[in-house]
Amino acid sequence: MTKPSISIIGAGFTGLSLGYYLSKAGWQVNIYEKDAEVGGLAGSYQVEGTHLEKFYHHWFTNDQHIMDLIKDLKREDHIIVRPTRTGMYYANQFFRLSSPLDLLKFKPLNFINRIRLGFVVLAVRMVRNWKTLENITAKDWLIKICGKQGYEVVWEPLLKGKFGRYAETVSAVWFWNKLKLRGGSRGEKGKEFLAYYKGGFASLAESMVEAIQNNGGKVELNKAVAHIDTKATITFSDNSTAQADHTVITTPLPIAANLLRSACEGAYINQLEAIQYIGNVCLTLELNKSLSEIYWLNVNDPGFPFVGIIEHTNFEPTETYKGRHIVYLSKYLPTDETLYNMTPEAFYQYAIPFIQKMFPDFNQDWVIQYHVWKEPYSQPLVTKHYSQIIPGFKTPIPTVYINSMAQIYPEDRGTNYAVREGKRMANDFLSGKF
Ligand SMILES: Cc1cc2nc3c(=O)[nH]c(=O)nc-3n(C[C@H](O)[C@H](O)[C@H](O)COP(=O)(O)OP(=O)(O)OC[C@H]3O[C@@H](n4cnc5c(N)ncnc54)[C@H](O)[C@@H]3O)c2cc1C
Repeated sequence: MTKPSISIIGAGFTGLSLGYYLSKAGWQVNIYEKDAEVGGLAGSYQVEGTHLEKFYHHWFTNDQHIMDLIKDLKREDHIIVRPTRTGMYYANQFFRLSSPLDLLKFKPLNFINRIRLGFVVLAVRMVRNWKTLENITAKDWLIKICGKQGYEVVWEPLLKGKFGRYAETVSAVWFWNKLKLRGGSRGEKGKEFLAYYKGGFASLAESMVEAIQNNGGKVELNKAVAHIDTKATITFSDNSTAQADHTVITTPLPIAANLLRSACEGAYINQLEAIQYIGNVCLTLELNKSLSEIYWLNVNDPGFPFVGIIEHTNFEPTETYKGRHIVYLSKYLPTDETLYNMTPEAFYQYAIPFIQKMFPDFNQDWVIQYHVWKEPYSQPLVTKHYSQIIPGFKTPIPTVYINSMAQIYPEDRGTNYAVREGKRMANDFLSGKF
C-alpha cells in the first residue's frame, strides 16, 4: 500500500526532524525551503571551510531529544561536551559566574543579597507546576525571591537585553524554565558543561537531509511558498504548485498567517498574529586574537547595548577555524528600532567603541572579517497566560497543520524542542491521530 505524502514548509530543525521521522516510516516527504541552505535559525556560513552558526548555538547536556536524534542518525561520535566559563560584565568590571563560589564573591551585591541570589536556584527547583507562575511576570517573581537590588543588578539587564521595551511583560514561566534548563547543564560541583556538534549545527542538519534523501524524500532549496488555498494546494513564489495528503508549516507564525491569509477567516489569522516576536542582530567577528577567556559573557552594564558577548572559540577550539577567534555580539530588539535597520557597516562601526571600552587592548587590526546577521522572528514574546494564546497544531484547513517555534511551551525555543515537536507530530501522523 502506498504510504501518505507530506509537504513540509521550512527546513529548520522542526521541519527536518518531522521529515526525518516520517521518511523513516516510509512516508513520501517533500520539504520546501525558501533559503539556499537548510538549518533555519540554526543555519550557518563557512569560516575557513567549516560551518559556523550565524547566531551562536550550543546545547545543554540535558537536551535529550536532540541527543536521541543524533544517536538515531549514528552520529553520536560528533557530540562534543566541554566545561565552559561564564562571566558577567557590570560597572566596567568582569566577574566570573561559573560556580556557586563565584556567586558568593560577587561584590556588586551586598552579602545578604548574594545569599538571596543563591535562593533563586532553590526557588526554581521548588516549582512543581509551572501553571502556578502563569499569572506573574518574571520581574515580580524575581523581586519576590531575591529582592530589588538582586533584580536590578542581575536579572533586569538580562530581561531588557533579551526583550527590550517588552521586558516587564515577560512571564515568570519563561524565566523559570530558562534557569531550570541552564541549571540542569551543571556537573557535580555546580560547574557548567555545554554541548556542540563537530562541524557545526549545519552538519547535523545536512546529515538529516542525507537521511531523508536516502529514505526517498526530497528537500528543495530556494523554494519559497507564497500561499496555500482552501484545498491545501501550495503555490510557490515561482508560481509552480504542489499538493500532498498533508501539509505542515514550520515557519514563524506571522509567516504562517501570510501563507494562510486568503484561505482562512480573519479570526484565525488574528490568533496567529497575536504572538509578538523580537528580532536579533548578531555581529560575528573573526579575529586574530582572543578577547578574553570567557565563553559566555552576560553584559549587565546598562551602558552597553549588547546582551551577551559569546567567544565561541573559548568552547570550540580555534584550530577548527584555522586559528581564527570567533566572537558573537548579540542584540535582541524590536525590528522597528533604528539599530535593527542599520547597514552591516554602520552596525559594525557602532559596536567598535563598546568593544574597545570593554577590552582596552582590542584593536580593529584584530578583525580579519565581520558579518552582521539579522532575524526578525528570533524569539517569541512569552507573556502572562501564554498557554491561552498558543494556536494548536491544526488549522481550519483539514490537512494543513502548523508546527512552529512559538508553540513550544512551557519550555523556550531551541533546537532540542524543535526536534521534540517534529518527532511528536510525526508520531501523531503515524498513530493516526491526525
Ligand atoms: C540568537 C539566537 C541564539 C540561539 N541559540 C540557540 C542555542 O544556543 N541552542 C539551541 O538549541 N537553539 C538556539 N536558538 C534557537 C534555535 O535556533 C531555534 O529554536 C530553532 O532553530 C528553530 O527551528 P525551527 O525549525 O522551528 O524554525 P526555523 O529555524 O525558523 O525554521 C523555519 C524555516 O522556514 C523557512 N521559511 C520561512 N518562510 C518560508 C516560506 N515562505 N517558504 C519556505 N520556507 C520558509 C525559513 O527559511 C526557515 O529555514 C537560538 C536562536 C537565536 C535567534
